[in-house]
Amino acid sequence: MRSIVLAASLCLMAAALIVAQGCGHEAKTPPTTSKVCQHCSGSGRLSGTCAVCNGSGQRVGGLTSPLKCESCGGHGTVSMNCPDCAGTGRVIRKD
Ligand SMILES: [Zn+2]
Ligand SMILES: [Zn+2]
Repeated sequence: MRSIVLAASLCLMAAALIVAQGCGHEAKTPPTTSKVCQHCSGSGRLSGTCAVCNGSGQRVGGLTSPLKCESCGGHGTVSMNCPDCAGTGRVIRKD
């Protein structure tokens, strides 16, 4: 009689072990569907030469002295949202 009880409890233990292992496999992280945008290195922003002043930071407007470029604030460079990831810094995986 004792051996039957022992066998039954062993069986239960084995079953519990299988369930525990099964849960472990179920809990693995889902595959990521997005990756860091290579175009902007994940920053979501790109800086480039101002097209209005062509990088000079000034534009000819007045009769005497050139005006500060309003498009880039006189810096000559502009920052804009990355067109590849629309400023999010991440793109959807295609593979
Ligand atoms: Zn980007
Ligand atoms: Zn400019």
